[in-house]
Amino acid sequence: MSRRPAGVAAALPETTIFEQMSALALRHGAINLGQGFPDSAGPERVRAAAARFVIEGPHHYPRMRGVEPLREALARFCAASRGLSYDPATEIVVTSGATEALAASILALVAPGDEVLLLAPAYDAYAPLVRRAGGRPVEIVLRPPRWEIRPELLAAAVTPATRAIILNDPVNPTGRMLEPAERMAIADLARARDLCVIADEVWEEVHDPARPHHSIAALPGMRARTVRIGSAGKIFQVTGWKVGWLMADAARAAAIAALHQYLTFTTPPALQLAVAEGLDCERDWLEGMRRDLVAGRQRLADGLARAGWSVLPSEATWFLCVDLAASGLALDDRAAAIALVRDHGVAAIPVSAFYEAPDAPRTILRFCHAKSPETIDAALARLGPARAALAQKSVQMPLTSQSP
Ligand code: PMP
Ligand code: GLN
Repeated sequence: MSRRPAGVAAALPETTIFEQMSALALRHGAINLGQGFPDSAGPERVRAAAARFVIEGPHHYPRMRGVEPLREALARFCAASRGLSYDPATEIVVTSGATEALAASILALVAPGDEVLLLAPAYDAYAPLVRRAGGRPVEIVLRPPRWEIRPELLAAAVTPATRAIILNDPVNPTGRMLEPAERMAIADLARARDLCVIADEVWEEVHDPARPHHSIAALPGMRARTVRIGSAGKIFQVTGWKVGWLMADAARAAAIAALHQYLTFTTPPALQLAVAEGLDCERDWLEGMRRDLVAGRQRLADGLARAGWSVLPSEATWFLCVDLAASGLALDDRAAAIALVRDHGVAAIPVSAFYEAPDAPRTILRFCHAKSPETIDAALARLGPARAALAQKSVQMPLTSQSP
């Protein structure tokens, strides 16, 4: 839903669900398992490098496409971790967070009238950006508990006006990683219909140790039609730094850089240089981060299950979801999120916020598990009684949509 105040050029999107829920968490003094950010603050070495560069410089505009050491480190990291080679001079652009990489890519690649396929639940930025570019977002509705991408769903959504598909893998909010067959089905469609794939891979390093991520760009014929987007915020747990990037063939990278130069032009050089050091030196930290991630997720999932919440599987990202209906609660996800933050002191994200379709699933809540054991235990101490209280309430309350 959007609104258009007088004197404003275009309909405005709603304030994001993350901002809304964090504001409510603050107002009610709740434990914030809503907006995705960890308790911890990334590797000390990367933070120390940032501090050093802030003192010593450089202090002035770096190259518009990003400092060379970062573009080179990204190329090395991508070659080692994904088996994909990109030329740091012509095929990598550093942006102010993945959000800017998404905005610049969509503005560069989507023309008025173009249709863009989104796999919903879809990250909240995609549809508003596609609309601002004059395109039409076409939502493919995926459903719990498996959120499976079936080829017939893709085929039913594509038309002669389809130009691109935005793919998030691993997936926020579900915590899934795509199965090889799903990635293959999207690649087959993209090749058959000459589509560009905007691959939001910000969670590429945040997954179970036993389940490495594979980029769609590594499938045959896909490198040339894929824009890969990444974020240091997720890899190094520094969400506020807003160091992101994109990788694409030279022609697309140049087109996207042309937009980037008038969106932000650049991002702070000290942070870029610190991220470059991290990409080269923090392999061990990344492995420890993945072990901690699994432990935190298991702790939250076990505690929720003991209290009667029905937990859906998650293998990546900082998130896990619960199904309210399967937890015995006849409340919609917004109503449940409001009640949880207001009456029980825990913020969560209603997953229906990741859909526009009227028949979207409305029984799923997302929790951020990238928290210390103490934070998780404190949240669990509230979430147990909360389920029992909501079960009482849902007996009296019909399925309704409430806004926070
Ligand atoms: N895409 C997805 C799927 C995300 O989850 C996020 C942040 N949570 C972003 C993009 C934005 O990343 P950044 O903070 O680097 O802009
Ligand atoms: N992407 C983060 C999440 O999914 C939030 C980012 C934001 O607040 N814009 O929770």
